[in-house]
Amino acid sequence: MKKIPTKVGSLVIKPGRWVRGTLRVALLDGKPATIPLWVGAGLRARPGSRAVIGALVGGAHGNEPNGPELVNRVVAQIRPAELEGLLIVLPLMNPWGFNTRTRLVPMDQRDLNRSYPGHASGSFTMQVAHTIMETIVRQCDFVIDAHDAGDRIVLVSHARVHAEPEDDPSTTLGLAFGSDIVMQRVAEPGMLAREARTLYGTTVVSLEVGGALRVWEDMQEQAKRGVVTMLRSEGLLRGPLILPPHQHLLRDRRDIPAELSGVQTNLVRLGDVVQKGTPLYRISDPLTGELAIHRSKECGVVLAQNLSAIIDVGMPTMSILSFDTCDAEALLKTNVVHNRSDRHVVVVKGVQGWSHQKHLRLRLQPDKLGS
Ligand SMILES: [Zn+2]
Repeated sequence: MKKIPTKVGSLVIKPGRWVRGTLRVALLDGKPATIPLWVGAGLRARPGSRAVIGALVGGAHGNEPNGPELVNRVVAQIRPAELEGLLIVLPLMNPWGFNTRTRLVPMDQRDLNRSYPGHASGSFTMQVAHTIMETIVRQCDFVIDAHDAGDRIVLVSHARVHAEPEDDPSTTLGLAFGSDIVMQRVAEPGMLAREARTLYGTTVVSLEVGGALRVWEDMQEQAKRGVVTMLRSEGLLRGPLILPPHQHLLRDRRDIPAELSGVQTNLVRLGDVVQKGTPLYRISDPLTGELAIHRSKECGVVLAQNLSAIIDVGMPTMSILSFDTCDAEALLKTNVVHNRSDRHVVVVKGVQGWSHQKHLRLRLQPDKLGS
């Protein structure tokens, strides 16, 4: 828990209200460049008092509209008076990339989420990273960073945690998102999750919600409920933690490149469980008539799919998040979190999974994995 400041950047906090303004993040040709900054504080979150401070951020990558959209929907859902602390919101951290529909910041072609902790006298993106780090992240107990899969790929909605062991605070926060899959990934140097933790001990969890330059309505609404649950889990909002009875902590991701150029037809859906030998997709080459059918080399979940039907050799077609084992009983011992036995979790009766939307729900049937 940290002390509630009177201001964030130059924005004065007003308990019980959303305050919207901008944050000066860098100098561009001698003029200040800004990003949108919103703050909401609870009525009891008086400056100087100790309370939870969290941040909800999106739009680090300009070609990922589901992040900013999710941030907007969550903010519209929350009445600041109800907050038991301070929520700092950066809905669009890379507005320059958003305007050009590019992942990178166009001024210096850098990836903002590989540029932390940044530098006050570095390139444009390094300055932006430095300001976000020093002005926002430094004072936060936790940060939720919303992404999607970019131009062509769509990801099954999930939380990503960047630390081990499994009782790490970021895993607890990631599980609170309530997705059936929580992906564990070693953070690369320069990623917000890694540098925030190293420098300030701030917990960062990334969310991945859809992709392919469209808004995924069902995933958005699920993710909105998931973020509210995360805020409850951290003590910033009151209310029950509604989680599925089982969640799957997975880490081994295999991206499959196209073995042929041509037209790709998917034979499985996002979130499907596949076994060794399950046909995943076929590619037919309309020039030669050549046909390739790709079968899964492991047991796992379809994590990502390419939505572009015309594909070139070497381009990513699909990603599989592997189970440690194909044996159902062993799987339940290695990768699965059983929330009913978790003392922090209230599982509300009747809720059997994260999603009520059948087509988005992870179709995981471990007892059928068998051989
Ligand atoms: Zn991203």
